[in-house]
Amino acid sequence: MTTELSAATLSELLDQARSDYKDLAGRGLALDLTRGKPAPEQLDLSEDLLSLPGGRHTAANGTDVRNYGGLQGLPELREIFSDVLQVPVPQLLAAGNSSLELMHDSIVHALLSVLPGAESRWVDQERIAFLCPVPGYDRHFALCERFGIDMIQVPMTADGPDMDTVERLVAEDPSVKGIWCVPKYSNPDGVVYSDETVRRLAAMPTAAPDFRIFWDNAYAAHHLTDEQVQIVDVLAACEESGHADRAFVFGSTSKITAAGAGVAFFGSSPANVSWLLANNGKRSIGPDKINQLRHVMFLRDADGVRAHMERQRALLAPKFAAVARILDAELGATGLAEWTAPKGGYFVTLTVPDGCAKEVVRRAAEAGIVLTPAGATHPYGDDPRDAVIRIAPSYPGLAELEAAIEGLAVCVRLVGYEQRAAAQS
Ligand code: PMP
Repeated sequence: MTTELSAATLSELLDQARSDYKDLAGRGLALDLTRGKPAPEQLDLSEDLLSLPGGRHTAANGTDVRNYGGLQGLPELREIFSDVLQVPVPQLLAAGNSSLELMHDSIVHALLSVLPGAESRWVDQERIAFLCPVPGYDRHFALCERFGIDMIQVPMTADGPDMDTVERLVAEDPSVKGIWCVPKYSNPDGVVYSDETVRRLAAMPTAAPDFRIFWDNAYAAHHLTDEQVQIVDVLAACEESGHADRAFVFGSTSKITAAGAGVAFFGSSPANVSWLLANNGKRSIGPDKINQLRHVMFLRDADGVRAHMERQRALLAPKFAAVARILDAELGATGLAEWTAPKGGYFVTLTVPDGCAKEVVRRAAEAGIVLTPAGATHPYGDDPRDAVIRIAPSYPGLAELEAAIEGLAVCVRLVGYEQRAAAQS
């Protein structure tokens, strides 16, 4: 990312950046790019959910959805998402409104009750560690922190986590019990795990007999291009490798229908599903089947999900295109930044010169543009290079988004040139 500049040129560029920043700060902006929330127009696409199930209260098998029970969730909804999440219907649970909650509960249950294949409960072990591919999702890291699980960073590559490192760490250390994976259109860098990565994760020998892949397929259907990217079926790959119990698959309709009012899913081997059901049966008499029924009636089938996601894409793709266009125009020739061009998901990762991310985020906030805190993409909020900034383009309207990205580019030029000038002086 470095381009040699003469002192005179650098001084000119810095003056220009300072003057642009002054203009920016004077505009009194109040823009928020912090979290990957759907925009109101995206939520409008699912407005019909609010009038469903419209007086109907019987599931296909005659279950009265108004009553208790049905811990596994409605079969017809599991049927629809079996295809999307690559989990056979009998091994898929439709649960509450949040997949994060299922991840949280899976960890709590693993701490407190012996996992299939485990020798003891996690809480009885001296140390538990998870591999955390970075950059990654801050709420995964927050879960580990909450439960005292050590986090070991593993660099991401264009094909997923660096598998040589992963294989070495899991082979040598029995306290490494898990890995966080967002295998498709990852949060935040949009990476899609290659077939080889998935197969290696499924096949690798692990020192821990109860090692689990937390396969958070949050963006399974969230394409931004014509290419509907497919990944290898992790449950099948694990089973073929003789590790049937290795993967926990998570997903939800949070970014398909209503964020926080959708349906979350858990899929795994029959043994893991029975284990989770037995534990969940203690905390709930059954999920919200009325919400599940309304989702069935609204989405209808896997094709219905695909058609709905096309409508989501029509709203989201222009925003990602705007981000790419503006970053290219404003920063392309500067050598100060690199950014991702995701084929799906919710985020763009902007990489700035080492040591600059926090300062860029601070300057942007001072100018009224709030970004996800720098460091949030790393365990303990600490990006050792201080270089990664997560951009979440979904929520603002197009005009606001454009203003925010233009402003962000000014901040990158300001901080980047200031750093270079300091280095040269
Ligand atoms: N996993 C990932 C990777 C996410 O990006 C998000 C939302 N930002 C979630 C999980 C949260 O999902 P849910 O709403 O189902 O809890």
